[in-house]
Amino acid sequence: MGSPSQARLTIDLDALAHNHAVLKAAAEGAELAPVVKSDGYGLGAGPVARRLWAEGARSFFVARLSEGEALRAALGGRAATIYVLDGLLPGTPDRFEAAQLVPVLSTLPQVNAATAWAAASGPRVVALQVDTGMNRQGLTPEEARALAEAPGALRGLDVRLLMSHLGSASQPEDTRSAEQLARFAAVRALFPDARTSLAASAGVFLGPAYRCDVVRPGVSLYGGGPEERPDARLKAVAVLTAPILDIRNVQAGERIGYGSTFTAERPMRVAVVAAGYSDGVIRAAAGRGYAWCAGARRPLLAVTMDLLVIELGEADAAVGEHVELLGPNVLLDELAAAAGTIHHEVLVRLSTRAERVYLGEA
Ligand SMILES: *Cc1c(COP(=O)(O)O)cnc(C)c1O
Repeated sequence: MGSPSQARLTIDLDALAHNHAVLKAAAEGAELAPVVKSDGYGLGAGPVARRLWAEGARSFFVARLSEGEALRAALGGRAATIYVLDGLLPGTPDRFEAAQLVPVLSTLPQVNAATAWAAASGPRVVALQVDTGMNRQGLTPEEARALAEAPGALRGLDVRLLMSHLGSASQPEDTRSAEQLARFAAVRALFPDARTSLAASAGVFLGPAYRCDVVRPGVSLYGGGPEERPDARLKAVAVLTAPILDIRNVQAGERIGYGSTFTAERPMRVAVVAAGYSDGVIRAAAGRGYAWCAGARRPLLAVTMDLLVIELGEADAAVGEHVELLGPNVLLDELAAAAGTIHHEVLVRLSTRAERVYLGEA
């Protein structure tokens, strides 16, 4: 049973559907295949994917095999295509088979494992990932060319999707994206029958050339601006609030919280709120971030494991009242900037301690 002082994480699936529509319009005809890895960026892959299915999504991406298995179960009888970015690792073909998952092959050993799998049990649908300059995952363009040109190198494999990933899409002025696009175009010509995919959230907004056949947005579906700053077109999906436990007056020169993290330079009225980094409010946001209370921004003074302290000023607030720590008034991108990180990390750190409430479940 919940506690009266529990933080509350409201997951607004209507806002998710709104963001899906915004991205769909921006993608101008490309298929939108949502990325729901890391449990739907911490928001619950099942409810997120079921709502996106209701909005028309038919393909999804996860990172780990276990995420794919859990997603297949959560989608019930819905005939979704689920791509697993980790690819086909040794000992896993049976699990891909059982959960009807599509591996994204990113190394030659994975391609060989897939052809062996097909030889043993019949043709297989796969995706191929090519590294066009991010140096993280994917076959080199030369390896991809060799596979395309060597007779039988892909025997038994139906390469349904050819994909790559952009390293600098959230910085539209960076010339690296254009270089990656050019390398991708060269590889694409070798696989004329495969559908193609290059863009994640930020790439969707880089222009028509980047959209290809399928776009793979993650963070922008969940409310993060494609350029890592707030984007008015997108709505907050994750709303974290927590109640005020106490209101106190602190004298000038007194310290708040552990050590000397914060010393009051003047008398202050502060609220102690029942949430901390254990609920996903990143500790590094103290001193730079803010909370929303009584209709205004209130500076975040200290963040500990279970509690945080905000400056209330003259705010008309009472014990028990919920303060917004993330949501429509405390934007994901602003909180991320205050904490010195990116919006993806803020989302996936939202923990399960907060009581979860889903709005708009399909
Ligand atoms: C995580 C990921 C995405 C989604 O990225 P966002 O920036 O969250 O939109 C797309 N493609 C790949 C390969 C990924 O790893």
